[in-house]
Amino acid sequence: MATVASATRARPLLFDALPSLAETVPFLPLAEVPTAVERCAALSPYLGRDDVWMKRDDLISPVYGGNKVRRYEFVLADAKARGATRIVTLGGIASTQVMATARFGQHLGIPVTAVLFDQPVTRFAREAILTDVDAGATLIHGGGYLRSAWRFYKARKTQGAYVINPGAASPRANLGYVDAMLELAAQVERGEMPRPDVIVLPTGSSGTLAALALGAAWLGWDTEIVGVRITLRIATNALTIGLIRERTARWIAARAPEFGRALGSRRGRYRLFHGAIGEGYGYPTRESIEAMEWYRALTGKPGEVTYSAKALVGLRAVARDPAYAKKTILLWQTLSDVRPVIPEGTRERVPRDLQWVFEGSVPA
Ligand SMILES: *Cc1c(COP(=O)(O)O)cnc(C)c1O
Repeated sequence: MATVASATRARPLLFDALPSLAETVPFLPLAEVPTAVERCAALSPYLGRDDVWMKRDDLISPVYGGNKVRRYEFVLADAKARGATRIVTLGGIASTQVMATARFGQHLGIPVTAVLFDQPVTRFAREAILTDVDAGATLIHGGGYLRSAWRFYKARKTQGAYVINPGAASPRANLGYVDAMLELAAQVERGEMPRPDVIVLPTGSSGTLAALALGAAWLGWDTEIVGVRITLRIATNALTIGLIRERTARWIAARAPEFGRALGSRRGRYRLFHGAIGEGYGYPTRESIEAMEWYRALTGKPGEVTYSAKALVGLRAVARDPAYAKKTILLWQTLSDVRPVIPEGTRERVPRDLQWVFEGSVPA
C-alpha cells in the first residue's frame, strides 16, 4: 500500500490542466488529498478475490468526509464569493449532504437551514439529525416530497441565501470528481495502483458518476464506471445521467475551450447496477444489512444501509462476475469516516416535529 501524506492544496490539479478555469471559478481548499488508494484486503472472503482496490474518500476531511467534500470546494467557494449569509438545502432525514453542509457551514461560519424529507428511520438517520443539530443547523421538517418541496421553496427566499439543491450535482459541483480523476491518474502514474478497468460507487443524484465518467474520457481511459443505484429509477437513470454529464461537459468547455477540444465527442463509459436497492432509497435489505459488517471489517467504522452497504453488494456482484475476473476493480469510497461524537442533551434540541425519528426500535 502506497500513500502520500495528504493535506489541503492551494489549487486543484484541474486548474493546472485548464488554466482558464482558474481565472473564473472560485475554489476553497477543504479536502486533504490525495486520498489513499489501497487494497480491500479485509473483503477477500466476501468478494472471493484479494485484488480489489479502494480509494479512501471516506478519509478526505476531519470536518466531514465522503464524496460531498470535493464538490463543496467549488460550491462553497461560490457561496463565499457571492457573499452568502446563509446556505439553504434539502435532503432526507439521513442525508449525508445535509450533514456535510451543516458541518462545513459551521466550519466556515455560514449558518445553514435544511429542509428534511422523510425516509426510513435507521440508526444512521438518528445520528444524522443529531449531527445536524450539533453543528448548529436550523432544521425544518418537510415530511413528504411535496410538502418538503414547498418548504424548501419558501426557505430559498431567505435574504442572502445560497441554495444547494438535493444531491448537489450542479456542473460546478461536478468539477470535484473530474479533478479527482486527475488525482487518480497521478497515483497510477506513480505506481500506487494499476489503472482501473472498473470503478464501482453508490449512485444517487449521479453527479459523482457523471464526473468520473467525464474525467476518464478526458484522460483517454476506457474505464467503466459502475454506479450501484441507491435511489429510485425516476431519479437515477440514463436520461438524468446523460443530462448531468452533458451539462457538465459544456459548462467546463464554455470556460476552458481546451477541455472541449481534448474531450471531443467522448463522454466516458458507465453502467448502472440495479440489484442492490431493494424497496427504495434508504430501505434496508437482507444483503445490505449483511454488508454493513463487511464495511466495518474494511474500514473499522460502522457503515449504513443507504449508500455504503449497497455499494458493497454491487461491488460483490461485479467482483464475482466471470466477465470481470481479470479486470482491475476500484471501489470509490463515498461515505464519511467522521462520525461526530454527539454531546449529551442534543436530542432535546431536535425540533419537536422531528422527535418521532427517535421513538421505537430500528432494523439497522
Ligand atoms: C451523496 C452520496 C452518494 C451519491 O452520490 P451522487 O453523486 O449523488 O450520486 C453516494 N454515497 C454517499 C455516502 C453519499 O453521501
